[in-house]
Amino acid sequence: MTLHAHSLRTTNQRIEGYLNAHPALRPRYEQARAIRRILRKSNNYDLTSRCNLFCEGCFYFEGDDYKRAAEDMDDAHWDTFFAAQAAAGVSFGFFAGAEPGLAQERLLRAAKHIPRGAIHTNGTLRIRPEIPYSIQISVWGDEDTTKHFRGGNVFWKSIRNFANDPRACFVFTINPNNLSQLPGVVRILQDYGHRIMFNYFSPTQSYLEKIACGADNDKDYFRISSSATNMLFDTGSLLRARAVVNELIGQYPATVLQSRAFNDAVTAPGPLYSLDDSGIARNCNGRNFAWHQGYRVDMQPSDAKCCMPNVDCAQCRLYTIAIASFIFQPERFLDTAQTFEGWLDICEQFARVYLGQREPVPMGEAAMSFAILVAP
Ligand code: SF4
Ligand code: SF4
Repeated sequence: MTLHAHSLRTTNQRIEGYLNAHPALRPRYEQARAIRRILRKSNNYDLTSRCNLFCEGCFYFEGDDYKRAAEDMDDAHWDTFFAAQAAAGVSFGFFAGAEPGLAQERLLRAAKHIPRGAIHTNGTLRIRPEIPYSIQISVWGDEDTTKHFRGGNVFWKSIRNFANDPRACFVFTINPNNLSQLPGVVRILQDYGHRIMFNYFSPTQSYLEKIACGADNDKDYFRISSSATNMLFDTGSLLRARAVVNELIGQYPATVLQSRAFNDAVTAPGPLYSLDDSGIARNCNGRNFAWHQGYRVDMQPSDAKCCMPNVDCAQCRLYTIAIASFIFQPERFLDTAQTFEGWLDICEQFARVYLGQREPVPMGEAAMSFAILVAP
């Protein structure tokens, strides 16, 4: 038996042991397996190289990868491309950019062929109602901070653009300097009936190099940071951020979609993934492997390590990648029946954020309605 087969067998045996001891968890486990089937072949698509903002430390423009592809502007080509992707078995699409809200005709073409997906947008543009994907809207702080960090005053605009839109969920990117703004932003989003998740700032290599060598600020994606003041976490600030988020999870259960188990796992000090000799994550589900492939704006498969090629793996806590990785790595959560239940919470968190399940699902309860989760 190979080492992999052995550890898979051990994982399955341990899960079975918890299910036998706690039969009420079994329906939740079956739902978790359904979620995994939906994600069995998930690809990432950069739809456009255009954006209308200038975010500090931008994942897309702060690095050279985007320069390797020229955007195909013919939407008919995109239609053919997405049809081929669906025929190849793609079960879920992650749509990003730069800003995918600027390429909505392509989103419509994608939705014709790939029924499930998620759009990662800056929220400045409404997404047409006939596009059936979940929508993740990035937030970088309160009104003033947003203007400062994103080069545009888009805070209220994004809240208004997505009022009463059941597809929408806000994703607040936390860094050590905007922690104090979290409670106020969550309160506002609650007042407007929105939901929120938290992402921890994950620096690009280029951002780290500029900080390390004390580079001068520019007029684009490194306007504000310096060696003395920047968005990097150390262990102390990371654990402080974890504590603030855990408090908000308890305070706003219908508004905050982050589960406690995910929040604790994603803020574990040190690298989240095992790194190879060149510092690249081995066990990250965002890597371009057989089950996941990123495509650049020319519709060609990316030869980069992942869909966020500029980000430093050792400090990567990107929430989409982390949750997709954890869902396929239950072995991380098998110390006790309680941690296993935490893994089920994480799978359910994915369903609420990415599969459009609107009603809050009580964490830790077996009785759930997942009518939406019928894997094809
Ligand atoms: S919205 Fe900000 S982070 Fe996203 S591509 Fe545009 S500049 Fe970059
Ligand atoms: S940067 Fe993040 S998403 Fe990309 S391979 Fe590394 S850990 Fe995975």
